Amino acid sequence: MIYLDYQATTPLAPEAREAMLPWLGGPDTSGFANPHSPHRPGRAAAAAVEHARAQVAALLPPGGRVIFTGSATEALNLAIAGSGARRLAVSAIEHAAVLDTALAVQPAATLLPVDGQGLADGATVFEPGTQLVAVMQVNNEIGTVQPVEALADAAHRAGALFVCDAVQGAGKLAAPAGADMIALSAHKLYGPKGIGALWVRDGVSLQPQVHGGGQEQGLRSGTLSPALCAGFGAAAKLARERMEADAAHVGELWQAARTILARWTLNGSTEARWPGNLNLRLDGLDVARLMSDLRDVAFSAGSACASGSGRPSHVLTALGLGPAQAKSSVRLGFGRYTQVREIEDACARIDAAAAAQGV
Ligand code: PLP
Repeated sequence: MIYLDYQATTPLAPEAREAMLPWLGGPDTSGFANPHSPHRPGRAAAAAVEHARAQVAALLPPGGRVIFTGSATEALNLAIAGSGARRLAVSAIEHAAVLDTALAVQPAATLLPVDGQGLADGATVFEPGTQLVAVMQVNNEIGTVQPVEALADAAHRAGALFVCDAVQGAGKLAAPAGADMIALSAHKLYGPKGIGALWVRDGVSLQPQVHGGGQEQGLRSGTLSPALCAGFGAAAKLARERMEADAAHVGELWQAARTILARWTLNGSTEARWPGNLNLRLDGLDVARLMSDLRDVAFSAGSACASGSGRPSHVLTALGLGPAQAKSSVRLGFGRYTQVREIEDACARIDAAAAAQGV
């Protein structure tokens, strides 16, 4: 199996797995202790959580705090719904975790358009009275890198908070400067599934969305998993140390893929992008057939139909692609553990399978 779906999730780094093991805690160890318990094993687990928090915080700007959550989706719900803002503007190509949360808060939320390259306008002027703006750092479907610093400034000029979904950029690019809140997910940066984080700038106040025992400074009740925190922390540390090496490797993979798939059209900007995401289309391509012909290559339909509704991707549609073009797109995602020969092999087979369809 060649795995080319790194935007959906990444493999767990061996270093992250190693860091988790002591905290999974069988009966013969004390690693299972509740990190909120005051006894000695509890305090040891709490120390592991705080160590992990500092490792995650090192990926983020100074002057804020890291709140652990169960996922980035939960972090974004806390940021958007918990801010109390009721007049919102979000980009049209946000992940559902932002889009649906914003629409739940304000059904008539403003949707900021993107251009044909999949980029929001950094010179956007927000309507006075806008209370919160959310624009992602790197788009999960097409990999475009948004002008989030300029948009954060523009949001602040209108008196609004700026939330950045950095799920696909964290650990790969520098953290977005100027944001008031930043959401991350461990499983997109070679950490475990089931844990995310919200970074909150000092001075920003939020209302909890999950009520209970008051953990995470009252903002996210529920017992933390020290194992998940430790895995997240180790993955964040590794991502920080390897940022340049990972980017160079991904750049090499991108070149190899583009060379082989030169006749395919790239969806989204060539320059303003994370190169580990290659969303390509070939007019007339039957993506379902391509995927069934290549069952040992794990990639995604670029059209990523909303819950099997058959509707084309809202992201590709926002770029101006028609339904047929959106549905003839594929997304190849690769990263740290993808080998050059794997991408070459997969791309050659994808191209040959498309050619066999006569496209
Ligand atoms: N935001 C983006 C850009 C994503 O790609 C994802 C995951 O697909 C999420 C948010 C949600 O992350 P999680 O799986 O941690 O809820």
